[in-house]
Amino acid sequence: MVLAELGGSISRALQKMSNATIIDEKVLGECLNEITRALMHADVKFEMVRDMMANIKRIVNLEDLAAGHNKRRIIQQAVFNELCKMMDPGKPSFTPKKGKPSIVMFVGLQGSGKTTTCTKYAYYHQRKGFKPALVCADTFRAGAFDQLKQNATKANIPFYGSYMESDPVKIAVEGVERFKKENCDLIIVDTSGRHMQEAALFEEMRQVSEATRPDLVIFVMDGSIGQMAFAQAQAFKQSVPVGAVIVTKMDGHAKGGGALSAVAATKSPVIFIGTGEHMDEFEVFDVKPFVSRLLG
Ligand code: GDP
Repeated sequence: MVLAELGGSISRALQKMSNATIIDEKVLGECLNEITRALMHADVKFEMVRDMMANIKRIVNLEDLAAGHNKRRIIQQAVFNELCKMMDPGKPSFTPKKGKPSIVMFVGLQGSGKTTTCTKYAYYHQRKGFKPALVCADTFRAGAFDQLKQNATKANIPFYGSYMESDPVKIAVEGVERFKKENCDLIIVDTSGRHMQEAALFEEMRQVSEATRPDLVIFVMDGSIGQMAFAQAQAFKQSVPVGAVIVTKMDGHAKGGGALSAVAATKSPVIFIGTGEHMDEFEVFDVKPFVSRLLG
């Protein structure tokens, strides 16, 4: 995972600063420049990096730090905290409760891993004792329903969809109603990721969301899309109330920066990451352990 490279580069910058005999403005400046380069290289949006550096400089005011202060520790802590802040929008996302019907709608571009992730999410909760169900509201892509059906069958999860119906709103509403009646407590609505025109896709998402009134909308993004992440996440957020992010393909060449940008664009936390094609290659995402691990 290229994300590890980012962690390595930041750790090395901090180590170099730590090894300096005296920590002055020059040493701090070099350290922050190296961290800036590492973040930019990992596809984090420039404005975010700039703000992060400004915050660190404000916290670590070398002139004001009396001789007794452990400057190294203060700088390391500031970098750690700022990285956590970038990943944490400050409000937790909705979490489904057992025995109480929750509707979770998935959005994201085709190829992001949305359908795979719907099943992973359902399977994860099924193992925790939930009664999940999957609804395929993607009527645009031929084969979407088959894919969801196959995944759901493998995991023994009930599913709903249609080969004939072309109205995604109708299918979504019917599916949700059916599974509410069947006392499912986690109804997952998979949606389309492609359209003839982008505007039509976002309008469709808005309609499905309005008709099903989801408790949570999850934006799924491919972890390797880099600098495009911010605009993509923002476009979905403008159409539907995105409340959480899942980043997929973190086992591949994902640089990780895209995830930071998606958090900033949607003001929503990353809740899981996908680490492979299989059903159980799915991890809960927690900011602090993640950043700790990142920095080694
Ligand atoms: P959708 O078009 O957004 O519904 O995407 P799919 O669920 O069909 O996934 C697109 C491709 O990405 C498939 O080949 C999946 O197996 C693969 N995929 C999804 N999530 C992951 C992941 O976390 N890691 C890897 N390596 N592949 C993934």
